[in-house]
Amino acid sequence: MPLERYDTLLKDAHNRKYAVGAFNIFALEFLPAILSAAEEEKSPALLQINPIHFYLADPGPYLDYVKHQIAKTKVPIGLNLDHGISKDIILKGIQAGFPSVMFDGSKLPYAENLAQTREIVELAAACGITVEAELGTLNDEGLEINAENRDRLFTNPEKAADFVNHTGVHALAVAIGNAHGFYKGKPELDFERLKKINARVAVPLVLHGGSGISDSDFQKAISLGISKINIYTEMSAAAATTVKSLCNEKDSPCDYPTLLFKAREAVKKVVIDKMRVFKSSGKA
Ligand SMILES: [Zn+2]
Repeated sequence: MPLERYDTLLKDAHNRKYAVGAFNIFALEFLPAILSAAEEEKSPALLQINPIHFYLADPGPYLDYVKHQIAKTKVPIGLNLDHGISKDIILKGIQAGFPSVMFDGSKLPYAENLAQTREIVELAAACGITVEAELGTLNDEGLEINAENRDRLFTNPEKAADFVNHTGVHALAVAIGNAHGFYKGKPELDFERLKKINARVAVPLVLHGGSGISDSDFQKAISLGISKINIYTEMSAAAATTVKSLCNEKDSPCDYPTLLFKAREAVKKVVIDKMRVFKSSGKA
């Protein structure tokens, strides 16, 4: 199928009450795992590349290859630049051929995040490119969540509505207790806050830091407006653990293509599991 649009994928998920899994790729290893999982599950999906991984594959020619593989896939697949933290990186992503981008100004003061996001939306619109933005700070440092940190870090529902109205973004990533990487302790999502954001914001909501959140919390988050969930750490850990255990096996040949293939199978398992939890299986 031809490459699917980011906003079309999220709109369908929003309307039919499921979430599109957004799975990160960076070279050749994870791509076939995710595409074959999507076909087997008859699930739509998004592929994402974080610019921090551009050193592993030159984004221009790499995207040509990824798009070629997407075109051969029988289910709708989109492609998104993950965490573009500056206008320069966003422009580099657009030049490389990304049809949708995430601008991450979440570490900037509110007014600056709003101004820069609006500028990115305007320049992306000229090329028909959709923009996801982020408001609030993910708790990547694993700070204790007390009332003060909650108000300082988490997405403010009123500001979220103001931000979306003044920037024209197509989707909003929220901070409700989610974090990138492995969680330090059990993740506790602020569902009351999510409910308030969802009531005030018309665009689909995005949950970053999906690795480590329980299945029931995912489903509750989807029922409260989350339409896209990002997964990376869990796939990376599955691949690394598989390679490590194979190399530690007695008399293991540690043959590199075999290791890559086994890692791919482990990643595919994670992706299938997530598609079922997100209820995107069967929605293609
Ligand atoms: Zn993220």
